[in-house]
Amino acid sequence: MDISVVVPLYNEEESLPELFAWIERVMKAHDFSYEVIFVNDGSTDRSWQIIEQLQTKSDKVRGIKFRRNYGKSPALYCGFEQAQGDVVITMDADLQDPPELVDRMLQYWEEGYDDIYAKRRNRGEESWMRRRLSLAFYSILQKMSRIDILPNVGDFRLLDRRCVLTLRHLREQERYTKGLFCWIGYRKKSIEFDRGDRLAGHSSWSFFKLLN
Ligand code: UDP
Ligand code: MG
Repeated sequence: MDISVVVPLYNEEESLPELFAWIERVMKAHDFSYEVIFVNDGSTDRSWQIIEQLQTKSDKVRGIKFRRNYGKSPALYCGFEQAQGDVVITMDADLQDPPELVDRMLQYWEEGYDDIYAKRRNRGEESWMRRRLSLAFYSILQKMSRIDILPNVGDFRLLDRRCVLTLRHLREQERYTKGLFCWIGYRKKSIEFDRGDRLAGHSSWSFFKLLN
């Protein structure tokens, strides 16, 4: 397997068909073999039924179903454990992460980079509270931490298998995935992009989830 696309998702029934069609389109432009791993993080809408439908239509789709909502980080990690690809691409389900960027990520990977991440030039639609809390969090974290935690970098990235194996070896139970990506090292490259708004639904980060 060349590429594993890992998508953690919580209540994304409206975006999933379009997301998969989009990923398929990008992947078909290359000769790579690929799988798309949807990790359903305890959705309460019809997301799982849609994943099952996609699975009957395409042998590229793998679905993993959590019994309840554990959060994005455990969902991502579960995807890393299951991924068989030489590279793993992680992206959100709401199409805020444009799959076209994957072409450039793959180019950089072929040039020898191990961890290619998308850096947002803007943050897309979000509340004033969310923006302030996020930026305050990054600024405090930056001051407290010895490693550089990159602000405005989400979990949209391409990781060489070596990075994924390293992440799998870490024993942290409470994972701050963005921090761990920075901590593991490896040859990194950033790609800047303009973040759009969600295709449908709304962000699942409530005030208390963010504060936590
Ligand atoms: N997500 C998840 N579990 C959660 C919350 C979110 O798997 O408990 C997924 C969500 O479906 C999306 C991604 O994580 O694919 C990013 O979530 P969201 O769009 O809410 O975050 P934002 O884009 O606002 O940072
Ligand atoms: Mg989003």
